[in-house]
Amino acid sequence: MLACLVERFVAENETDSILEPEKSEDSILKDLDIEGSIDYGLTTTDIASKDFGGIYAVKPLAFIRPAGADDVARVIRRALQSPTLTVAARGNGHSINGQAMADHGLVIDMKSMGHNNRIDVNVASMYVDVGGGVLWTDVLKRCLGYGLAPKSWTDYLDLTVGGTLSNAGVSGQAFRFGPQTSTVMELEVVTGVGVITVCSDSQNSELFFSVLGGLGQFGIITRARIMLQHAPDMVRWIRVVYSEFDEFTRDAELLIMSEESFNYVEGFVIVNSDDPVTGWPSVPLASNQSFDPTHLPKKTGPVLYFLELALHYNKHDDSSTVNTLVEKLLRRLTFVKKLRFEIDSTYMNFLLRVNHAEQAARGSGIWDTPHPWLNMFVSKRDIAAFNRVVFQNIIKGGVNGPLLTYPVLRSKWDSRSSVVLPQSDIFYLVALLRFTHAHPKESEIKQMVAQNNEIVQTCIKNGFDFKLYLPHYESTVEWKKHFGDQWIRFVERKSQFDPKAVLAPGQKIFTRNH
Ligand code: FAD
Repeated sequence: MLACLVERFVAENETDSILEPEKSEDSILKDLDIEGSIDYGLTTTDIASKDFGGIYAVKPLAFIRPAGADDVARVIRRALQSPTLTVAARGNGHSINGQAMADHGLVIDMKSMGHNNRIDVNVASMYVDVGGGVLWTDVLKRCLGYGLAPKSWTDYLDLTVGGTLSNAGVSGQAFRFGPQTSTVMELEVVTGVGVITVCSDSQNSELFFSVLGGLGQFGIITRARIMLQHAPDMVRWIRVVYSEFDEFTRDAELLIMSEESFNYVEGFVIVNSDDPVTGWPSVPLASNQSFDPTHLPKKTGPVLYFLELALHYNKHDDSSTVNTLVEKLLRRLTFVKKLRFEIDSTYMNFLLRVNHAEQAARGSGIWDTPHPWLNMFVSKRDIAAFNRVVFQNIIKGGVNGPLLTYPVLRSKWDSRSSVVLPQSDIFYLVALLRFTHAHPKESEIKQMVAQNNEIVQTCIKNGFDFKLYLPHYESTVEWKKHFGDQWIRFVERKSQFDPKAVLAPGQKIFTRNH
């Protein structure tokens, strides 16, 4: 049945026959006719060999800059003629563990997708059609020109649309709208058999849901249709501090479950110290604000918590109306009353807040150094125990970077997508966004990776219900465990849409076959 499907796809769409005899890797690209360009002779320091994580460096055979979806399809079909060649779409290379790399394979630069990387706003129908290699920063800027914006974001926007939709795309709006994958109306995808297919909830829906959160395993996203909403002009951006984890989580859960709430809810863990990166000074939102630790209760532990909140409004709104609503929403919360910080910001600057932080990190030389990050989803059932063994113990000294934890609602995630989640109705995103020093020693990086492993092992030992987000495993056995009862579905999807396992080899889930 699956073989028939694949044959039909190929017969209907193929122009470069994949039935030609298999060619060696060296000769395979010689007469490949694409509109874009192909770079050979790469080294491990070239962009195609690196990512934001900076832990892996893998040399591809070639780096391809396609001119559009047709080029992507031609490249995949040509790779299929070799018994070993693989193809990795590279978005902005902001993965941590080589997920967008291809060892001796073909890396496709999605950011150079020429005419495909368009951003077409449909005002009447409130959606935007956007190329898979477009950065969310550019989507934001274009949509705001029409007074519109996507509903769900990531914290940092210099990530490509195809890259985040292959994972999920989570930020403080996810409690209301779900991850970015929940806001997609349609995709254009080049499958692992090199066929360009348009898919949605109602058309080729199995491919649509496979690709969303599919870790690049089933097709390369060349266009996405994203839902829009009216954009506000401004946000009231607020941070409120907690010394007790149970009060912090109770308030966070109250906010994500209430009909009337903020438009954005996130949470952070900080060190109870004056460390400028991980301690009290990291909380205030403006240079004229300061964190006075004397307001903390006497018996405060090694770490503190704060909620980060945002309320949308428009510049013509009466400020007393905004203030009244903010006070009404905050009144229900139990934070340390004198540790409250707020500013008004344009909506655009609020959404670009991490892009602004990037400039500072670049200035101090820590943006291009390795980042052994760990992201996970932890069930509400286990988050208090996680706080005790991980936040208050293993990483009580901080991670030399932001440490996020906030709840989201499982009901906002479509279970037909390929993402796997913990069991409970509410689960917490936990993100350890580690930075090294400007010239880190190898031992510093190794220590951070070892601590990440310790945390994962601790979760397993304690029987916590958790899943890695932006997962990284080295073996099929580990992937099988990660997917649990979704593994069979994932494998079936793979054999349907990428039967030779050509795509996204850097995820190390499947091995190329012929
Ligand atoms: P890449 O790293 O280039 O690719 C990721 C994977 O997707 C690879 O397997 C690749 O082959 C595949 N892929 C890339 N493009 C396509 C495509 N068009 N079609 C199919 N597969 C494709 N994530 C969140 O959810 N929320 C956040 O707030 C958040 N903040 C971040 C902040 C920073 C500073 C960084 C570095 C990362 C952050 N991330 C966040 C993680 C980010 O969403 C993922 O790393 C994402 O994959 C990065 O997108 P990219 O375009 O760089 O993808």
